[in-house]
Amino acid sequence: MQKLIAGIHRFRKQYWSANKELFRRLAEHGQFPEVLFITCSDARVDPVTITDVKPGDLFIFRNIGNFVPPDSENLLEGTGVAAAVEYAVEHCKVRDIVVLGHSDCGAIKALYEERDHFAATPHIGPWLRHGDRTMAVVKANYPELSPEERYGITAKENVLLQMENLRTYPVVRKAAREGRLHVHAWYFEIGTGTVLRYSPERGQFEPIREEEE
Ligand SMILES: [Zn+2]
Repeated sequence: MQKLIAGIHRFRKQYWSANKELFRRLAEHGQFPEVLFITCSDARVDPVTITDVKPGDLFIFRNIGNFVPPDSENLLEGTGVAAAVEYAVEHCKVRDIVVLGHSDCGAIKALYEERDHFAATPHIGPWLRHGDRTMAVVKANYPELSPEERYGITAKENVLLQMENLRTYPVVRKAAREGRLHVHAWYFEIGTGTVLRYSPERGQFEPIREEEE
């Protein structure tokens, strides 16, 4: 905790002082984020750091594995994702939703474990059910994967499926139909600091280049 407390002092002295006007505006006028970012709880994956933006720029939702259950499952399970999506799209009027997966994801690795491996932590096993479709897709499309390949490919397929699940939400479908919302699948490689995005035209993940919007 000491590290955090020292950090707060530094934040007040340096970052906050340098960005006083921004914080004043945010306090006075509220938030107007343009992007909803859905990513993993993993401590190494920080959307604000990766995209080098400022407070107020991203509306963020995180859970273990960056799962977005399909709309039909949300009322039963109350995962919180749907409420965040509805708020971001209808109230904040975000223009983009990014689902960001990442390398070395513990949730993705856990999909390969037997569920009784998590007997002592009774919420983890059921939560991982949200990855069942991902595993089914991986098994069907990549019958032979080396252990080195499988986690990266699974994490990428997972992000694509969560993007598809987002499109089952009525608010997302409506805003996309009206041309005011786009949904993206991204993947962060922790070791190289590279962010890849899925290109629907080419059907693959590609590094984001500087000249792209
Ligand atoms: Zn993760």
